Amino acid sequence: MTTNNSSPVWHPFTQHALHGPMLPIASAKGAWLTSKDGKRIFDAISSWWVTTHGHCHPKITKAIQRQAETIDQVIFAGLTHEPAQSVAETLVEITPETLNHVFFSDSGSTCVEVAMKMALGYWRNIGRPRTRILALEHGYHGDTIGTMSAGARGVFNAAYEPLLFDVTHLPFPQHGAEQNTLDALESACRAEPIAALLIEPIILGAGGMKTYRACVLSEMKRVCEAYGVLFIADEVMTGWGRTGTLFACEQASISPDILCLAKGLTGGSLPLAATLCTPEIYEAHFSTDRTKTFFHSSSFTANPIACAAAKANLEIWKTEPVLERIGALASIQAEQLKSLSHNKRFENPRQAGTITAIDVKVDDDGYLSKVGPKLYETFLELGILLRPLGNTIYVMPPYCTTPEELATVYQTISDTLESGA
Ligand SMILES: *Cc1c(COP(=O)(O)O)cnc(C)c1O
Repeated sequence: MTTNNSSPVWHPFTQHALHGPMLPIASAKGAWLTSKDGKRIFDAISSWWVTTHGHCHPKITKAIQRQAETIDQVIFAGLTHEPAQSVAETLVEITPETLNHVFFSDSGSTCVEVAMKMALGYWRNIGRPRTRILALEHGYHGDTIGTMSAGARGVFNAAYEPLLFDVTHLPFPQHGAEQNTLDALESACRAEPIAALLIEPIILGAGGMKTYRACVLSEMKRVCEAYGVLFIADEVMTGWGRTGTLFACEQASISPDILCLAKGLTGGSLPLAATLCTPEIYEAHFSTDRTKTFFHSSSFTANPIACAAAKANLEIWKTEPVLERIGALASIQAEQLKSLSHNKRFENPRQAGTITAIDVKVDDDGYLSKVGPKLYETFLELGILLRPLGNTIYVMPPYCTTPEELATVYQTISDTLESGA
């Protein structure tokens, strides 16, 4: 077969044999993208869930420009810099009281890898090695070998399956059947020593925007405490207001032992991630014995420009009415979703704060459902970037989205499905 792609670039999660050329984007502002030939596209998925306030927020852009002229990059072992110190201090301030230490990395996947390594390091360094990880069915934690191991198994990791380590997956806490999840957690904890439970709080993203009740989280935390199991919250997607509160864990009033943050940490402008942990975990690695060092780094750990972007983002959270904006967006999302719910082509409408999702009734549901790519193409032609997960359409716009823009998105979804797509 010949390639229909004249570019040497191999794109992520893209089947180039079935996909036309990639659409070149020339600029981005607020909730809108503009293509090279001048077409305006509404970014209804916040560019893969990273853009919170909107593209090219002037305060973040300015901070990046200024930092780029001062320190571009510096090794982060032995040396430090103001933007990293400031971001770490603010993260400690705004997250639950028990989280006092911040480890920087570059992506959601790596901050979850760091979380799992911290958990295993903790158990080993206190002389009671534990290695088993528990995670939720349908979970997603990244695309590295470690995070794929923790995430759902499927067509997207079948080729690597022999390399993935064994993780115990608990049943998804379906509404009305939450007890099954809690029972499975409890029996897993009884069966053997568990190092950590790794979960996406309130909503599982890539697994199909599956929502569950906050009370499940607090119950899971209670079981973990009873068995001394570390609780890792992967808030890579749910953090930064996505579910209506700054962090999703707040809705269950729980304080995780380890917290993973990425995506919206820089407002979605540059790659940066942080893993926060409790003093117990830090102190288990704090020793004159060098074998107890936390052995993790990447070349660009705490890159100053990315940290400056994060610092500007944190400043925006402090000085702008972001939570109010999120509240308003969540309520217009609810209203719009209700209008779609009456349409017979859809089922399972659900919402977590600024995120809504609904399933298209099809015969071939699941990740490879043919309806997904077809809808993607149609929506894009109509000027809206929506990227269905299989037969699940979800809307996760930047917080600067207006009620009118959102109404257009839902009208387009409804019209497209009416016309038989
Ligand atoms: C996106 C995501 C990740 C991976 O983040 P990357 O920056 O893409 O590596 C991990 N966990 C969750 C819950 C995510 O949504």
